[in-house]
Amino acid sequence: MAKVTPSRQQYLDFKAQFPDAIVMFRLGDFYEMFDDDAELAARELDLVLTGRPVSKGERVPMCGVPHHAVEGYIARLVEKGYHVAVIEQVGSEPVNGLTPRAVSRVITPGTVMEPGMLADTCHNYLLALAPEPDREGTSWAGVGLAYVDISTGEFAATQFNGNDTTMSVVEELARLEPREVLLPSSWAKNGVTLPAGSHLTPLPDYRCELGFARQTLHDHFGVSTLDGFGLQNQPLAVCAAGAILAYLQETQRSALAQLTGVRCYSTASFMMLDTATRRNLELVETIRDRSKRGSLLDVLDRTITPMGGRLLRTWIGQPLLSRDRLEARFDAVEALFEAGTTRAAVRDDLRKVSDLERLTNRLLAGRAGPRDLLALAASLETVPDLREAISRAAVLAPVADMLDPCADVVALVQAAIDDDTPATLNTSGVIRRGYAPDLDDVITASRSAKDWVANLETTERERTGIKSLKVGYNKVFGYYIEVSRANTERVPDDYIRKQTLVSSERYITPDLKEYESLILNAEERLLEIEERLFRDVCDRVLDHAESLLRTARALAHLDVFASLADVAAREDYVRPTLSDDDMLDIHDGRHPVVERMLHGQRFVPNDTHFDERERLHIITGPNMAGKSTIIRQVALIVLMAQIGSFVPASEATIGLADRIFTRIGAQDEIHAGQSTFMVEMVELALILSHATRRSLIILDEVGRGTSTYDGMAIARAVVEFLHNNPRLGSRTLFATHYHELTELAEILPGVENYNVVVAEDGENVVFLHRLMPGGADRSYGIHVARLAGIPKSVIKRAADILLELEASGGDFSVEKRETPDGPVQLSFFQADPDPVIEALRQLQIDEMSPLDAITILYELKRMIE
Ligand code: ATP
Repeated sequence: MAKVTPSRQQYLDFKAQFPDAIVMFRLGDFYEMFDDDAELAARELDLVLTGRPVSKGERVPMCGVPHHAVEGYIARLVEKGYHVAVIEQVGSEPVNGLTPRAVSRVITPGTVMEPGMLADTCHNYLLALAPEPDREGTSWAGVGLAYVDISTGEFAATQFNGNDTTMSVVEELARLEPREVLLPSSWAKNGVTLPAGSHLTPLPDYRCELGFARQTLHDHFGVSTLDGFGLQNQPLAVCAAGAILAYLQETQRSALAQLTGVRCYSTASFMMLDTATRRNLELVETIRDRSKRGSLLDVLDRTITPMGGRLLRTWIGQPLLSRDRLEARFDAVEALFEAGTTRAAVRDDLRKVSDLERLTNRLLAGRAGPRDLLALAASLETVPDLREAISRAAVLAPVADMLDPCADVVALVQAAIDDDTPATLNTSGVIRRGYAPDLDDVITASRSAKDWVANLETTERERTGIKSLKVGYNKVFGYYIEVSRANTERVPDDYIRKQTLVSSERYITPDLKEYESLILNAEERLLEIEERLFRDVCDRVLDHAESLLRTARALAHLDVFASLADVAAREDYVRPTLSDDDMLDIHDGRHPVVERMLHGQRFVPNDTHFDERERLHIITGPNMAGKSTIIRQVALIVLMAQIGSFVPASEATIGLADRIFTRIGAQDEIHAGQSTFMVEMVELALILSHATRRSLIILDEVGRGTSTYDGMAIARAVVEFLHNNPRLGSRTLFATHYHELTELAEILPGVENYNVVVAEDGENVVFLHRLMPGGADRSYGIHVARLAGIPKSVIKRAADILLELEASGGDFSVEKRETPDGPVQLSFFQADPDPVIEALRQLQIDEMSPLDAITILYELKRMIE
């Protein structure tokens, strides 16, 4: 093979270090990509693919992006899940004819720090899983999970063991929505289902081993034990945390100073929400288009700062179980709810606050620019006003105490950084005049040198008497004095001839050379001094890093409290009363999202009540009456109460729920290879196996995904199970079209019937949206079909069939019916086999317990009746 050029070899050496990343190689003013990377980037970024000779007779594909626009291109690649390694030129002088280069950073979806690549109010999590295989090696016996947001410094780890490991991992993934997930490569092949928008990065297995991980953490934090982080009995959590840290060290190539500790947490301290429930309740995005608009977050989020936005999002995904912690949140919200002027003042001040949390972290990571320091100081300047504003509310004292105005930092930044500083250190003008005498001296000297040169033409014309004398500059000779040939006799002795042209001579003088070098060196020296001073200011600001981060946290809390108070005041919410029992009493409850969508129409409030005896509500009512709305509204009210938000009701007493489960009707979506009915049953199985008496369960049309009898049987069996199982008796709202279920209220003491009533006005139906005790007796589906614009002839025909069915007691065994247009084959009315005989035929008597047998006998008898 022909020998490749030295720069090609240099490129290949870097590429070998990062085989899985797109390598961007700085060549002059461009970042170039080669070979497969070039083809891929040309495709993904719409760039022109060219070629570059790399050895005699060999060209390879190449494409490039201009250096000043590189961030945007990197962002687009990372957004698509690619990793990008950036190789910079270092030093200005080539060594042995080759410009030295070094890796400056590797950017992956989970390790982005650049502000332009981050969404303000979302976290950007990198997550690692360290699984411990079970004995067969096919499933997980335990899993360590760690996550980090390097833009905010948040770093936490936990571990799961036992039967629910997989589910807990899935739920944490759904809660955190990480951008990137690290997994040992031997497990990555086992197919792990990640949430949409997450990218998988396989790691060599040894990176998740305990010894390696522990050492990485010890070295980074400078500790000899991890006990201080609460990780003593959490080996898998240590594995995951260590794996993350090692990955960051490799990609960030910096000291990672923003990671000052790792928090060990337990999912037991907050309400776990399964993926389906998060989705069904549309907590942070809607099901329909996955947008924030129309979600609970959309209603509650009136935060002003990005830090507040992120905190509120976290709170919504992580409802609390501790009454004390919640009461503290409510006290704070209430204080701002009642004091409208204070709230307005706080919100006004917050508008002047930037993302102090990410600014401080950029500073810690050594990535802050001069304007970041100005933004940081401007944010801190409002802190005294904020403290003053909340000083009268005693319950906000803990927040006020955490707010540190860091006056030294403000004074330092204001003294040191110029108000009109350029964005980067590549241009001078960062440091304010008067801050550093040595810098001012250089500036003054450079200015006077420039003035001297500017005046030179005049002074030399006067001195020599040559009117046509000119001072000029070119790149080769620098400054020169030009005299026309006719006047060369008159040049003074100190002129040194430098260049002869056709009609003139060019000269220099020793003074001119000296001033020239002053001018030319001044810019470089200025940049050097400014950089040194800037780094020094950064270091001194970082002495206050802890206070800055604490202040950022307090600001985020204040922002969320004020936001929740503001929403409560605008939307007429009340502070709920919390209790540690399993009751629920909501007066005039409303659906926080639906009520906002009604545009002028009145939302009809409804009551909900559960107590020691009343545990399960069967809710019937015509289509469109509002069944789904009422059951979701109850779930949302409980959830809102458990994040610390006031609730849409006139009064509410809420027994804290350990979990909220939802199973919401067939959404007719194709889930990875599973039928809708299968998904429905899987979700139901999860509820039945994990709910407790303290849980809240929302079931919407369970059983709808299969034939009527199957569906009804399942629905009924579920109600009985929830009611009878001593572990359960969970507060349950069950909306259904199976009116037959209403019979259960007569048999099971904890079951109550409710229906959402409608009024009939001639042929029309008026939806009242009011929930009343008792079961509904008619479905009105045909009326809704009319409202939806189904052709009249179809409506008429449906009404006739309905009448016949009602007359025959729902006997579907009629094969042919006459219509005005002649006989029609109604094949979907094919006779079903007798359900009792069919059920008997299916029984596996050998596998039944006596209890099962009795239950089935009871069921068969009921079917006959
Ligand atoms: P289906 O059985 O067809 O699924 P449903 O009984 O579950 O219907 P919902 O989807 O809850 O009915 O409600 C239908 C519409 O009625 C809602 O989109 C909303 O516009 C309106 N609505 C529901 N409840 C109320 C209410 N309490 N006050 C005012 N409007 C309401």
